[in-house]
Amino acid sequence: MPSTVALTRSQVERSAPLRTNTEWLDKAWAELGTRVLVVANGQALMRTGDDGAVELIFLSPEEAPEGVRFLLGVDADDVAYFGVAATPPAPADETGVTRAGLREAGHLLGDRDAGLLTHAIGLSNWHEVSAHCSRCGAPTEPIMSGHARKCTVDGSEHFPRCDPAVIMLVADADDRCLLARNVNWPPRRVSVLAGFVEPGESAELAVAREVYEEVGIEVSKVSYLASQPWPMPHSLMLGFRAEAAGTEIHVDDDEIAEAAWYSRDDLRAAIENGDLLMPPSLSISRWLIETWYGGRLPKAPKPA
Ligand SMILES: [Zn+2]
Repeated sequence: MPSTVALTRSQVERSAPLRTNTEWLDKAWAELGTRVLVVANGQALMRTGDDGAVELIFLSPEEAPEGVRFLLGVDADDVAYFGVAATPPAPADETGVTRAGLREAGHLLGDRDAGLLTHAIGLSNWHEVSAHCSRCGAPTEPIMSGHARKCTVDGSEHFPRCDPAVIMLVADADDRCLLARNVNWPPRRVSVLAGFVEPGESAELAVAREVYEEVGIEVSKVSYLASQPWPMPHSLMLGFRAEAAGTEIHVDDDEIAEAAWYSRDDLRAAIENGDLLMPPSLSISRWLIETWYGGRLPKAPKPA
């Protein structure tokens, strides 16, 4: 099995019971050692070291700008981590310091920082669009250290939204894998199929429906493999494997431009020749393909 799905890594305990402990929260915010991650528009400040490793840049509570504050958790050394939804300060005039998001840096961060950034971006994306009550339109305010909001008029509580999406590797009876190109992708870029779970639908039924809609293939033996948060802006990707009943592909031209079956040898050759581009290593789609392939995919040729 290939290494962990990039955005499922984490090291800091979320410490949910402390979110309502105002005495503890005030004390933690007054601690010099408390680390604050400032996030907005899916970006935070980070530094790339000489070795290529990327680390988040934290501020002290004193340095942090005003904004919705949320407790991210407490680490094994009792250091508290907070997020603040506000524009991160402009990068200082220092080499290697940038504002970046999960797409650029999610796979380059260590376990602690990957978990903190994924959590913080998920919450800040939600706060950015949740200033008003979805029932009555009145302003809402953060409660539970930024893990929920409450309407200031009707008192209703609102929790961070998370949209389940299924992503599935479909294999045929010869264990060839189905890869497709979305109509919005550049030539040669392919991946496994994916789609949102609809209201009142199980994830397994969503897998079968999406595969049939997109490529006209019926599937059985839908089995769950792993999930990955994808807070861009607020999805949870549920990774599955499914068996195709037939091999005749009918692409739905709305979403899928082309699709084909690949044996492991076909795929290796197509990547090495530069005929196919694989999804980035951050994604659960690549992880699903590598799980089927049986290891790391070969490297693409360097552009001429
Ligand atoms: Zn309301």
